[in-house]
Amino acid sequence: MSTPQEIVFEPGKFYDVTVKDVTEACVNFNETFDVPELYSNAGTNVNVTCGRCKKPMVIISATLLDPQPEMP
Ligand SMILES: [Zn+2]
Repeated sequence: MSTPQEIVFEPGKFYDVTVKDVTEACVNFNETFDVPELYSNAGTNVNVTCGRCKKPMVIISATLLDPQPEMP
């Protein structure tokens, strides 16, 4: 298994990300999920939490949205 590449987020941007649940006890274990609009906050603390186990999921890919969605 290869080491996932570290993803660098620009601050204050929206990304389309794919995440994977890595919590073995969770029904979602090893499932991947698409998050079409994830905000990067400061760009340093980007987390997606599993809706079932409430644990952070691993971000396996991220694409900067172009154009960026309008702020609500
Ligand atoms: Zn989970």
